[in-house]
Amino acid sequence: MQTVMIGPIKYKIVQRDELVDGNDPLIGQIDNLSGEIRVMSGLAPQIERVALWHEIIHGILMGAGQKHSEGIVEAVSHGLVDFLNRNDCGFLLTGEEDE
Ligand SMILES: [Zn+2]
Repeated sequence: MQTVMIGPIKYKIVQRDELVDGNDPLIGQIDNLSGEIRVMSGLAPQIERVALWHEIIHGILMGAGQKHSEGIVEAVSHGLVDFLNRNDCGFLLTGEEDE
């Protein structure tokens, strides 16, 4: 099982066959009470990646006590995944220059 730390909280990443918010279907959901990030099973890999980043960004903003709109989370998650796909980001993860 994969996990991510967002601040002091460890989230389990779990797959679900169905995710809803009321009557609205979802492809991802973060639950800071149970410590779960849920993604719908069977998503194309690139959609799952955007959905996971979307929920992680929600978690970062919630952890920082920031009110935020769904639109900003959607914009940042799509932009971030695109950025990661187009750039060699090793030095950004380690803080060290590639030789
Ligand atoms: Zn959202």
